[in-house]
Amino acid sequence: MRYVSTRDSSGGPGLPFCDILLAGLAPDGGLYLPQSYPQVDAATLASWRTLLREAGYAALAAEVLGLYIDDIPSADLRGICDRAYTAEKFGAAEVVSLSDLGEGVLLGHLSNGPTAAFKDMAMQVLGELFEYELERRDETLTILGATSGDTGSAAEYAMLGKDRLKVFMLTPAGRMSPFQQAQMFSLDDPGVVNIAVDGVFDDCQDLVKAVNADLTFKARHRLGAVNSINWARLLAQVVYYIALWLHATADDDDRVTFAVPSGNFGNICAGHIAREMGLPIDTLLLATNENNVLAEFFATGVYRVRGRSETHETSSPSMDISKASNFERFVFDLLGRDAASVRDLFAHQLPMVAEFDLSRTDAFAGLRARFGFVAGSSTHADRIATIAAEHARSGIVIDPHTADAVGVARRLGASEAIARPIIALETALPVKFSATITEALGADVPRPERFAGIEDLPRQVVDLPNDAAALKDLIAAG
Ligand SMILES: *Cc1c(COP(=O)(O)O)cnc(C)c1O
Repeated sequence: MRYVSTRDSSGGPGLPFCDILLAGLAPDGGLYLPQSYPQVDAATLASWRTLLREAGYAALAAEVLGLYIDDIPSADLRGICDRAYTAEKFGAAEVVSLSDLGEGVLLGHLSNGPTAAFKDMAMQVLGELFEYELERRDETLTILGATSGDTGSAAEYAMLGKDRLKVFMLTPAGRMSPFQQAQMFSLDDPGVVNIAVDGVFDDCQDLVKAVNADLTFKARHRLGAVNSINWARLLAQVVYYIALWLHATADDDDRVTFAVPSGNFGNICAGHIAREMGLPIDTLLLATNENNVLAEFFATGVYRVRGRSETHETSSPSMDISKASNFERFVFDLLGRDAASVRDLFAHQLPMVAEFDLSRTDAFAGLRARFGFVAGSSTHADRIATIAAEHARSGIVIDPHTADAVGVARRLGASEAIARPIIALETALPVKFSATITEALGADVPRPERFAGIEDLPRQVVDLPNDAAALKDLIAAG
């Protein structure tokens, strides 16, 4: 299996998995994708059904990853997945599971990992893959990132105790929820440096860019990233679509629909890949909040990225995006893998006029039938009403992001020709966003035992002015 950039029309041989694992963006600015998607037939799905039942989630993950990774021996890949997906980290041996929300909608639990958000599902594997490959190359890596919440903590918990990795994570001082701050700042590990920047999230991102722009510094300190465009993260996410499909179905041609709370298009892109591999997915229901860049594209064919001033702060904050960093991967497939067109859209049109329009193309006309996407969006009022209605119906409390997916599943799932069950993906536990839950239910969310009292633990955090030179000094000091 070789990997190619979405902007590379040269027809070159591509790169093996381990070369793109540590690379991030392709040199031409595109995103890496496999040259083709391995196909799974009914017999494979039947064997995976037995494998999941008898050997568990990590065994299934190793099989799926093995279809895309041929430069790590399969026994090592199995070891990587065994270390990533333990019952201890994910609260139960089965790792992912389903609950019934009633009337054809199921909840796919993906948020029982160390940081109570679905990002653990991919990040735990990424941490193990990085450590494995760095060991093999006898190298080290310094992860420099910026976070407003879930990504940073998932990255820190995944890199914990890994000798070849050190994490510097920037956060906007005083702007994350007390729970999210406590999750990160209570980590006491020499490999994790939490930094509170005197500024907002955009300032943190700008600092990361400024430091990375100094190529000498970047090379000397071996700077890398764990952002959502990393192919290994997407690949790890494909596994849970398969596992949830296996949990939800009895026969190997039963079709289901997935409803996915979307921001950077990472999660649902993994669903798209699972569908391209032949997993019997009927519809991919894409749910956005008020930041509806993606819902607008699937409704109109126009992709229009927003400026900072047009990006709303919402009560599902992990979906507050102005552009969707993984969307280029889907457009590549939508346009029949025409890299020259993708390059024109993403390297020329978007930077110049901040939008492109595919509404008059055959590709867009055939999109629903060929790729199964349907999109909808939610407002704060929808979110609150959905959390309350689902709680009244089933007694289950869902977080605001998950509520965006469940709300769209209830609204569109009834009116369109959409196969059931609909599996709505749970992307965080409600305890992370308790203020919104209290607003919806008039009561506090019960807190899982393992998070009891984390706000009272000593805080490990360095205060930093909004200044790239100061950040470089801190990294250089180790
Ligand atoms: C990251 C995140 C999302 C959005 O996922 P994408 O892969 O960016 O589409 C949704 N909900 C929560 C809780 C998240 O942390």
